[in-house]
Amino acid sequence: MAAEKPPVVILLGPPGAGKGTQARMLEEDFGLVQLSTGDLLRAAVAAGTEAGKQAKAVMEAGQLVSDEIVLAILRDRMAAPDVTRGVILDGFPRTSAQAAALDALLEANGQKVTAAISLEVDDEAMVGRVSGRYTCAACGEGYHDEFKQPAKAGTCDKCGGTGFKRRADDNAETVRERLNAYHAQTAPLIAYYDGHGVLERIDAMGSIAEIRAALGAIVGRVAA
Ligand code: ADP
Ligand code: ZN
Repeated sequence: MAAEKPPVVILLGPPGAGKGTQARMLEEDFGLVQLSTGDLLRAAVAAGTEAGKQAKAVMEAGQLVSDEIVLAILRDRMAAPDVTRGVILDGFPRTSAQAAALDALLEANGQKVTAAISLEVDDEAMVGRVSGRYTCAACGEGYHDEFKQPAKAGTCDKCGGTGFKRRADDNAETVRERLNAYHAQTAPLIAYYDGHGVLERIDAMGSIAEIRAALGAIVGRVAA
């Protein structure tokens, strides 16, 4: 399919489903730009901006940051020149209001959501996945205490960095809160995108490589 407009691919799924890991792989495989509202919010918190100050406690409690703050951050990011290559939205939209705002933002450019891919997983497994995860402080590559250690202990496979970090909200208690927020506020978007004819579902309980292949087949078909 010859897409004259850059593709807009949404990854839907609970915390721990692998959205961030897979979005980074789709960047590599298809040249799309990963756009993670979680990363943008954490950057705002680290920079101490007004939005970051307001978001910090909400994120640490595992709840959703207000649509107003998230949309302001997203609009800024969508205005950057690199997004003309096409985007993978990771962690956005997370509410019906955000989905409607995204549609309006795209429509203003004559664009539409190309595909919304739901990563289907088992909730209990997510608690374990999220609780053990950490990332390279230098390049952001994701690791896990049990499922994905670096080949050489303490050294990032990707960039050779030796510093790693864990998110403040990646503990069992906060993950349960985030799962509740997902089911209450975000899961309804699956039906929303199904109604728009752009929903795809994949089984995301397999290995990282298996999920990468399943996603690649879909993205290659709709967005190449
Ligand atoms: P995960 O998907 O693993 O929960 P994220 O990095 O996407 O992690 O998000 C971390 C936190 O950032 C969320 O729990 C929420 O507080 C906030 N957040 C991220 N994206 C949004 C969004 N689109 N709307 C509201 N809050 C968001
Ligand atoms: Zn690294």
